[in-house]
Amino acid sequence: MLNIVLMGPPGAGKGTQAKRIVASYNIPHISTGDMFREAIKAQTPLGKLAQSYIEKGHLVPDDVTIGLVKERLSQPDCANGYLLDGFPRTIPQAEALEILSKEINRPVTHVVDIEVEKQELIRRISGRRVCKCCGAPYHIVTMKPAKDGICNICGGDLIQRKDDNEEALNIRLDHYVKDTKPLLDFYQKKNLLHTFDGTVGADELLNELKKLFKEN
Ligand code: ADP
Ligand code: ZN
Repeated sequence: MLNIVLMGPPGAGKGTQAKRIVASYNIPHISTGDMFREAIKAQTPLGKLAQSYIEKGHLVPDDVTIGLVKERLSQPDCANGYLLDGFPRTIPQAEALEILSKEINRPVTHVVDIEVEKQELIRRISGRRVCKCCGAPYHIVTMKPAKDGICNICGGDLIQRKDDNEEALNIRLDHYVKDTKPLLDFYQKKNLLHTFDGTVGADELLNELKKLFKEN
């Protein structure tokens, strides 16, 4: 059974690995960041609220985020496991997840922490571009698309996320250190934490993750 939480600072490569993991195992990819971006695109009430926090680099309030995940985890496709990407990000969120995951009989089985140092995170995020249509990630130097500004997969336009500017990024990194890092201890104490080097390359990292998931 795979009930996975993916953790790591912004730019660690969580989204990239998440897409690869769910392609190999038949579990849904639950990214709170993606869910918020969808809601922003559709300008729903949730989207409008989330937008004001996200664009500045702040966290969306816990009650809103927890409500969103509660609803998502209760969907039938989570009955065989799930991959949470970007949730929990605070201690209250982790405590809520304890309860929610037990309610659906799917307590967290693996917490994967992807570590990358700050300078490299800044380099990755400042050059990051994403497809407007399918969300596929690129980098203007290290992961160029075949055609400038165009997604290899779907032909959509590549854009820079509003929260990928220097000011918002610094705030996001501060939130990571202050709000999210304490979760590493929280999960370490529960013997669920597995730490990985996020600079080894996406393919190698995926192989290491697969080894971990095979063990139990
Ligand atoms: P990254 O990991 O690159 O920062 P995400 O796509 O996971 O980006 O999230 C983007 C933004 O969405 C975050 O900076 C935050 O504002 C908001 N967000 C996502 N997940 C959460 C969460 N669990 N709690 C609060 N805010 C969140
Ligand atoms: Zn695309």
